[in-house]
Amino acid sequence: MAKAPHVLVAEDEAALAELLKYNLEREGYRVSSASDGEEALLLAEEAVPDLIILDWMLPKATGIEVCRQLRARQDTRNTPIVILTARGEESDRVRGLDMGADDYVTKPFSMSELLARLRAVMRRIRPGLAEDKLVCGDIVVDRVAHRVKRSGREIHLGPTEFRILDHLMQYPGRVFSREQLLDAVWGSDIYVETRTVDVHIGRLRKALMIDESEDPIRTVRSAGYALNA
Ligand code: CA
Repeated sequence: MAKAPHVLVAEDEAALAELLKYNLEREGYRVSSASDGEEALLLAEEAVPDLIILDWMLPKATGIEVCRQLRARQDTRNTPIVILTARGEESDRVRGLDMGADDYVTKPFSMSELLARLRAVMRRIRPGLAEDKLVCGDIVVDRVAHRVKRSGREIHLGPTEFRILDHLMQYPGRVFSREQLLDAVWGSDIYVETRTVDVHIGRLRKALMIDESEDPIRTVRSAGYALNA
């Protein structure tokens, strides 16, 4: 299965935070919640989220401070941030965008509007994450139904091969080292030998090359693997 995108919600209004968590999880996101600015910075450091929803008026460290600190850090420099502002706080909105926020939503907002804005931000920043279907050449990955087709023919993959292909399909042409693939597919907290990657790439290749069709995976000597764009 494709890794669910991780969203950090920094919101001190408990009822709204709960509502956001509920709706985001229903959309398939993994959610962690912070109720003040300091906690938000701490959580973002522990596990870099794919996207941050940041309330502008937070205790301990305001949205502007959180935004500034996240942008100054190497690992969160490019993490998309959507800020939540109260109606009429025009100057906050401008300051937020100046500070490197990617979008803003004015309170009160409808959940469907917010979710649509998040999808747009995700598509812009990491095209692969928000899509239900990934297409590269004659290969199609249906991430909802967990099915893969090549030239219209069904390909049967094991769960690990599916995750490797899903990852490669998000970045066609880009070369990934075995270590990077291990982190992306198995997670960085699990110890797996790098040659395990070679075994699974071998199986993936074999499954994809039906009817002597072309090998879609390129081996880059001493560097790693890439999906031919
Ligand atoms: Ca607030």
